[in-house]
Order: sequence, then C-alpha cells, then structure tokens
Amino acid sequence: MKGLVVRVVLAVTRWRWVRWIFTRTRVGRRVSLRFVAGETLAEAIEVAVAANRAGMPVSLNLLGENVGDEASARSSFDSYVAAIGQLRQHGVDGNISVKLTQLGLGFDVELCEQLLGDLARRASAAETTLTIDMEESSLTDATLDIYQRAQQAHGNLGVALQAYLRRTPQDLARIASLGGHIRLCKGAYDEPESIAFRSRQDVNDAYDALAETLLADEGLMPALATHDDARVAAAMTAVDGRSAPYEFQMLYGIRVSLQEQLVDDGVPVRSYIPYGEAWYPYLTRRMAERPANLWFFVRALLGH
Ligand SMILES: Cc1cc2nc3c(=O)[nH]c(=O)nc-3n(C[C@H](O)[C@H](O)[C@H](O)COP(=O)(O)OP(=O)(O)OC[C@H]3O[C@@H](n4cnc5c(N)ncnc54)[C@H](O)[C@@H]3O)c2cc1C
Repeated sequence: MKGLVVRVVLAVTRWRWVRWIFTRTRVGRRVSLRFVAGETLAEAIEVAVAANRAGMPVSLNLLGENVGDEASARSSFDSYVAAIGQLRQHGVDGNISVKLTQLGLGFDVELCEQLLGDLARRASAAETTLTIDMEESSLTDATLDIYQRAQQAHGNLGVALQAYLRRTPQDLARIASLGGHIRLCKGAYDEPESIAFRSRQDVNDAYDALAETLLADEGLMPALATHDDARVAAAMTAVDGRSAPYEFQMLYGIRVSLQEQLVDDGVPVRSYIPYGEAWYPYLTRRMAERPANLWFFVRALLGH
C-alpha cells in the first residue's frame, strides 16, 4: 500500500502544472521553505548558525542530482568548495553531504572520483568531514567502491546505507573496517521487492538490527538518520554502554520538536540542511514519504 501511495504522489508531483505551482507561486515556495533552507549558500549558513545555537551540528547538502555534463559536475564541486569555506569562516560546527551523481557519477566515474577526492582533501584541511548520500540501487556498488577508495586515501568520509535494501548487512560488513561515519537511513527511493523490503514492518526490523550492529562497533561513528520514534527508542536502548561517539541525524524542518527534545536530553543530533535552486525533486521525496504534507500545501493554497 505504501509503495502505491509513494508512486502516486511521485507521479502527481511530476505533472507540469503541479511543479509550476510549487516552484512559481508564493504559496508553493513558502511550503517548500519549510523543508529547504533557501536557494543560496548564505541562507543555508544562516540556518546552520541557528542550528548550532540550538545545540545541533549540521550537514549542508547542495540540492541537485544526476548532472549530465562535466561543466555541471564542476559547478557542483565549486559550490561545495564554497560551502566548506563558509562553514569554516563562520565557525559553524558542520560538514557537507554530497550525492555522487552531482559530481558526474552518471557519465564519468573517473571525474566523479577525482572531484570527490579533492573535496575530501579540502574538507580535511578545513578540519571537517564529508558524507556521501546513497542514491538509487543501480548506484550502490559504484558508490561504495568510490567511498572505499576515498576513505582509504583521506580518512574523513562517511557514507549512507539504506536499511530497505536486502544487501545492506553485507555492505556494512564490507565497509565497517574502514572506520568512517556510517549514516543509517530507511531509504527514500522506489525499489523493487526482489532487492528491497517493501513492508513498513520489514524495513523497521532491518533498521533496528543494523542500528544495533552499528552501535556495537566502537570503531565506527554511527549516524542514525530517522525521525521515527520507535527507531529512536530502539537505538537509545542499543546505545546503552557504548563509550564511542554516535549521533542521530534529522532533516531540517521535520519533527522539529523531537529534535529539540533529544537535544534537551543531551542526545547528539545533527541537522541535515538542504539548500540550492534544484530543490523540487527533494521536496517531492518528502511529500511522498508523508502525503499529509500535500494537505499542508493545499491548506496553504486555500489561505488557511
Ligand atoms: C539526515 C538524513 C539523511 C538521509 N539521507 C538519505 C540518503 O542518503 N539516501 C536515502 O535513500 N535516504 C536518505 N534519507 C531519507 C530516509 O531514507 C527516509 O526516507 C526518511 O528519513 C523517512 O524515514 P524515517 O526514518 O524518518 O521514518 P518514517 O517512518 O518515514 O517517518 C517517521 C515519522 O517521521 C515523520 N516524517 C518522516 N518523513 C516526514 C516528512 N517528509 N514530512 C513530515 N514528517 C515526516 C512522521 O511523523 C513519521 O511518522 C535521509 C534521512 C535523513 C533524516
């Protein structure tokens, strides 16, 4: 059922007039700003400074994926170089989150790897880290291969793993010895049942088991990316007795009161802050995860 809802919402948000309302009207943009820091790096830094003040380190994510030519990949690279520089200049406690298809993975693996390595080097010089987001399953192997080589070379990287993929326990076993930070999320793409769990219960069970494995490994920095109360509670039980660092990660604008409550309780939470002009696909994924967000949008449209 959830898969059907996700597919319907994703299909609707692809309609040209729906996209137009979101991107071209004041109401559409207002709803979007609930989930996106803004279109510019300056706006993202402002939100990041506020998050730090509220007790949360951040991860800045320049929106955009699947660039199709070298100039666009280099432009994403330049934007991330600027982000690393601004984080440092403003004394922000934060790092960057990067999608490899922003750096050209879709058409030139060598270029992508070279740009990623350069970003990791610059992040290291700025005393920060870089996390690789995980995209569709067709890219999992390539993403992990590139992560492995970059982490071996620079030592300041992390990567996201998706609990809904059946292969993830093996992937975790493969990369655990690299000692990076591992972000565990449920997974945001529409994957077939042959390779991914489709029921909420199966995904949740897989998530809890992987979180337990991660939290038991003191050589890793687990980052539990979820807004799900039950997953947070299970992880809090598994974290008991752990002496090495760990953190939760949550998306900007989602379950804000949960984020505040955890911080108040002394639990480490990092805020993932997306920004940039290419925010529409990100917004559609957040809508698909929670179609009630569409209702929020309709109410805003009707002036309530
Ligand atoms: C920091 C971070 C980084 C991520 N990186 C990746 C990545 O690299 N690759 C990838 O595939 N996925 C990534 N994701 C997305 C993730 O895979 C899930 O799709 C998303 O987090 C929803 O799952 P959940 O664990 O919050 O649980 P859910 O069961 O979906 O949600 C739990 C509760 O959180 C609230 N909630 C969840 N989503 C929304 C929303 N959109 N709007 C309003 N409320 C909501 C609702 O109250 C819901 O009941 C990331 C998520 C986070 C938090």
